[in-house]
Amino acid sequence: MRHQVVVIGGGVGGLAAAIALACAGLEVTLLERAATPGGKLREVAVAGRRLDAGPTVFTMRWVFESIFADADAVLSDHLTLRPASILARHAWSADERLDLFADLERSADAIGEFAGADEARGFRAFSAEAQRIYATLEKPFIRGARPSMASLVRDAGALALWGIRPFDTLWKALSQHFADPRLRQLFGRYSTYCGSSPFLAPATLMLVAHVERDGVWLVDGGMHRIAQALAGLAAARGVTLRYGAEAAEVLLERGRVAGVRLADGERIAAGAVVANADAGAVAAGLLGAAVRGATPAVAARDRSLSAVTWATVARSEGFPLSRHNVFFSGDYAAEFRELGAGRLPREPTVYVCAQDRWAKDWGNDDAPLSGTERLLCLVNAPPTGDLQPPTRMEIEQCADRSFRLLARCGLTLKHEATETTTPEGFHRLFPGTGGALYGPAVHGATATFKRPGARTRVPGLYLAGGSTHPGAGVPMAALSGRLAAASLLADLDKTAWTSTGRSRAAATPGGTSMR
Ligand SMILES: Cc1cc2nc3c(=O)[nH]c(=O)nc-3n(C[C@H](O)[C@H](O)[C@H](O)COP(=O)(O)OP(=O)(O)OC[C@H]3O[C@@H](n4cnc5c(N)ncnc54)[C@H](O)[C@@H]3O)c2cc1C
Repeated sequence: MRHQVVVIGGGVGGLAAAIALACAGLEVTLLERAATPGGKLREVAVAGRRLDAGPTVFTMRWVFESIFADADAVLSDHLTLRPASILARHAWSADERLDLFADLERSADAIGEFAGADEARGFRAFSAEAQRIYATLEKPFIRGARPSMASLVRDAGALALWGIRPFDTLWKALSQHFADPRLRQLFGRYSTYCGSSPFLAPATLMLVAHVERDGVWLVDGGMHRIAQALAGLAAARGVTLRYGAEAAEVLLERGRVAGVRLADGERIAAGAVVANADAGAVAAGLLGAAVRGATPAVAARDRSLSAVTWATVARSEGFPLSRHNVFFSGDYAAEFRELGAGRLPREPTVYVCAQDRWAKDWGNDDAPLSGTERLLCLVNAPPTGDLQPPTRMEIEQCADRSFRLLARCGLTLKHEATETTTPEGFHRLFPGTGGALYGPAVHGATATFKRPGARTRVPGLYLAGGSTHPGAGVPMAALSGRLAAASLLADLDKTAWTSTGRSRAAATPGGTSMR
C-alpha cells in the first residue's frame, strides 16, 4: 500500500505540491472543482477567442525549471518562453509615456529622458537597493519554510534584516529615490502585485521590481499553458487529476486527517491533505467545521486587493500598445484611500495586457494590428465580494471611468465582446476570499510573518497557495506547494501512517529541494 494524499485545488500551488508528492512515491489524488486546472491562472473565451483572464506577468522562471527538473523533465520541452525586452509601457496622459526595459541602462536612459538625470540616478540607486533586498531574502525567506523575524536575524544577520527596511513604507522609500511623483507611482504599483497599498506596504516590497528586471517571460499560447503543462506533468508522474470534483469536508479520525468527503458524498481515504483552496476558506469552515481552527482567520480589513477585469476582444486605436501597459490615475493616494474604504476608486489606474502584442525583439511590437485584438484590462478593487460587493451600476461607472482614462492617454477601444469579472465573481470562483486575490495584504512590518505556513494545527493537513507563505503570485504559489510537499514528507516518518510505500527521495525540512 502506498501513502495516500489528497490535494484540494488545482491552482499552481496544488499542482506543484501534487507533482512533488507523486515523485516521492505517494499516491496522489487532486480534486479541482473547476473544469480545468490553474485556478486564477485561468483562460476565458470571448467572441470565440481564448484569452488569459488571470495572471499575465510571468517571472522567476527558475521556480518552474526546478519543478520540472525535480520530476525528471525539462521545462522547455513543455513550454516555450521568450524574454520580454520591454517590461511595461506606462502612460499618464497622451504626452507622458515611459517604457521600462529588462536592460537596466536602457531603462535609466528612458527615465533620464522622461524626468531628468537626477531621476535616472535615483532609479539606479533604487534598482541596486531592490536587488540587495532580494538577495538578502531569497534563501532565508522566499525559499525557506515559514521564517520568523528571529529566524531571519539568525540566518541573514541583524544588519541585513535592518537593510530590508521592514519598518519604512514603500512610498517613503520611493520618495527618497524619486522626486518625480510619476516615478513613485510607477514603482509603488509593484506592491499591488501582492494586492497591497504602497502607502502601507513595507519598503521590502521593492524587491518585486528586481524580480521583474530579472526576467519577464512571454509564454507561447498564453499563461494558461503553464497550468496545462503542470497538470500534464502531474498526470505523467501518476497523479489522479479529477476536475468538477469539489471537496466538501476534510475527514478526521482521532484528531488527524483521515480523508476527504466530496460534495457529491463520495469519500476518499487519505493520510494527509494539502489544501490549495484559500487559507481563508479553511478558516471559514468551507472544508468542514472540524478543520476550521486549523489556520487563523483573516479579518476582512486585512485582505489583499480584489480586481475588476474586462477580458475583451476589441479594435484599438491611437496608443501604441505594448504587451504590458499601465495607465495611471491622477491621484494615487486618493485611489488607495478609496480602496481602503471599500469603494471602487473614482479614477482607477488601469492595466492593459495586449495579448496579441509581442516583445520588440520579435519584430512586431508597436505594429498596428489589423482587426480586433485580445486585451485583459484590470483595475484594483476592494475585497468586498462577500460583504458589500460593488453594485452593477458602480461596476459600469468604473468601466466608464477606466476607458475614459485610456482615451485621455490616447487609446480608444471599440469592444466586440467583453467578459467582466468583479470582486463578487472572484469570490464565487475562489470561495472564502471576498474576492481578495493574494491572501492577506502585506501591510506593516510583520504581515509577511503572520501568513500561515504549510503546516496547520491539524495533523496531516497542509496549506499551499498564494494565501500562504511565501506569498502570492504564480511562482510564489508554486514555491508554497513545494514547501507543503516538503513539510508533509518530512512529517511522514513521524506520523502514524503505517505503510512503507515505495522508496522516496529524502525530504529537506524547511527547504524546497526534494531530491
Ligand atoms: C486577475 C489576476 C491577475 C494576476 N496577475 C498576476 C501576474 O501577472 N503575475 C503573477 O505571478 N501572479 C498574478 N496573479 C496572482 C496569481 O494568479 C496567484 O497568486 C496564483 O495563481 C495563485 O495560485 P494558488 O496556488 O493560490 O491557487 P488558486 O489559483 O487560488 O487556485 C485554487 C484552486 O482551488 C480550487 N478549489 C478551491 N476550493 C476547492 C474545493 N473545495 N474543492 C476543489 N477545488 C477547490 C479552485 O477552484 C482553484 O482552482 C494574478 C491573479 C489574478 C486573479
